[in-house]
Amino acid sequence: MNIAVIGGGLMGLVLAHRLSQKGYVVTVFERNQQLGGLATYHDYGSFVWDRFYHVILPSDKHLIKYLHEIGLGDQLRWRSTSTGYYVDRKLYSISNTLEFLRFPPLSLWGKLRLAFTLIYGSRIDNWQRLEKISVEDWLVKLSGKKTYQKFWQPLLLAKLGESYQKVSAVFIWSYIKRLFSARDSSLNKEQLGYVVGGYKTVFDRLEKLIYAAGSCICTGVAVKKIIPDSINGLWIERGNTKEHFDKVIFTAPNDTLNNNTVIRHVEQFVQTVL
Ligand SMILES: Cc1cc2nc3c(=O)[nH]c(=O)nc-3n(C[C@H](O)[C@H](O)[C@H](O)COP(=O)(O)OP(=O)(O)OC[C@H]3O[C@@H](n4cnc5c(N)ncnc54)[C@H](O)[C@@H]3O)c2cc1C
Repeated sequence: MNIAVIGGGLMGLVLAHRLSQKGYVVTVFERNQQLGGLATYHDYGSFVWDRFYHVILPSDKHLIKYLHEIGLGDQLRWRSTSTGYYVDRKLYSISNTLEFLRFPPLSLWGKLRLAFTLIYGSRIDNWQRLEKISVEDWLVKLSGKKTYQKFWQPLLLAKLGESYQKVSAVFIWSYIKRLFSARDSSLNKEQLGYVVGGYKTVFDRLEKLIYAAGSCICTGVAVKKIIPDSINGLWIERGNTKEHFDKVIFTAPNDTLNNNTVIRHVEQFVQTVL
């Protein structure tokens, strides 16, 4: 079976690798010259640098397992990191419990409520119910209005701009859960990881594995249209050429794809194959 994967970000490349392992012939189409999508890198010649900050947390179990699977386990490095909070033109370290308790911008009561929010949030497993509550309502309820305004709101604004008002509590819950897992409780220190050479190391390895399995990657190729064939499969239109595939998987942002027939086709296929 001949499969097209549109998008050469992490999702597209991992899918292409997995499908190639299962014996499918895959062609990845990536519109940029460079692979990686949101996790791509700057190439400065003598060294490369991840374009956006990315970290690996101890709880990223699937990712860590996968890195071992593709032979990059020995390239993983873990480091203790520190956390600071910039408020009222001053940077405060809050890297451990003692510093957190001293954190001057919040009253003792505010700190207790903040600590309660973090501990309570980290213990929640049923995140589905949080989808119905806005992040603002949830945080005000748990931390109180003052702590929300002093601590949470600036963080939400910095990360999401005014759009934070449209976001559900699941957003902050997933952060709390993820970051809690990065803490080594014995040392009360945060552990964050990276792959030596950044995500470029991962993309280079995936590219090699995809080619070795008989599939290929076309960079600098933007897919313009996906057209279902009247009898079988789909057509991909790029520039002035059209290519036929049995299946197509689209991994770019959803809003670029507004043909419901294709979406259904793709979803069904992903469910059956993976
Ligand atoms: C600042 C920042 C920090 C982040 N930090 C973390 C982190 O620490 N940990 C973490 O797990 N995640 C992090 N993320 C999220 C992570 O980067 C993304 O979830 C992940 O890279 C998404 O991969 P993807 O393949 O699904 O999508 P994308 O990376 O968006 O890939 C989609 C690809 O499709 C291509 N494309 C689009 N349209 C077409 C077309 N018509 N034809 C062909 N190709 C097309 C695009 O060029 C792109 O390469 C961060 C993101 C950002 C922005």
